[in-house]
Amino acid sequence: MLTKLLCRKTCAQCRLCCVFDSYDFRETPVFDRRMRDRIASLLPDAAVVSAGTDSFRFRLTVTDDEGGCACPLLDPENGCMLGEDKPFVCRLFPFRVMHLNGRRVIAVSPLCDALTEKPLAVLLRFVRDELADPVFAYAAAHPDEVQPYDALCPVLLWEPQTFD
Ligand code: SF4
Repeated sequence: MLTKLLCRKTCAQCRLCCVFDSYDFRETPVFDRRMRDRIASLLPDAAVVSAGTDSFRFRLTVTDDEGGCACPLLDPENGCMLGEDKPFVCRLFPFRVMHLNGRRVIAVSPLCDALTEKPLAVLLRFVRDELADPVFAYAAAHPDEVQPYDALCPVLLWEPQTFD
């Protein structure tokens, strides 16, 4: 989804978005039933909990010395075990779709230097031309996967309001 902005090699060498601090566990990816079944076939012992009416996420516990935990699907050698068929939030990151004041927005995480060092005009154009339609359509169909707004993430685009 983001290969026009981020090269695969950069992401493969980083993997920051697949490791969570304990205060960040609510940021772990939410996935739908189809993905849950696929994950169960890969990781039958992974602890998965409900994240909404028909969505799920991992239940993580601290496993490293720095008070965090890697996503159970992160293979240290080969990256995400799901390959290209990742949860929506993972395909979108470091962009994020969130609820803010009753509307959906596309924001950007400040954690990804490779993205945030790009000119603002480039990010705004990409969000408007490439992300807005598919992301807002997916978010409307999968409301559990829309995250609450995090004030650390600058908003790049508000979903257009529709008036009756
Ligand atoms: S599902 Fe894959 S891409 Fe998403 S956090 Fe886990 S390892 Fe990373």
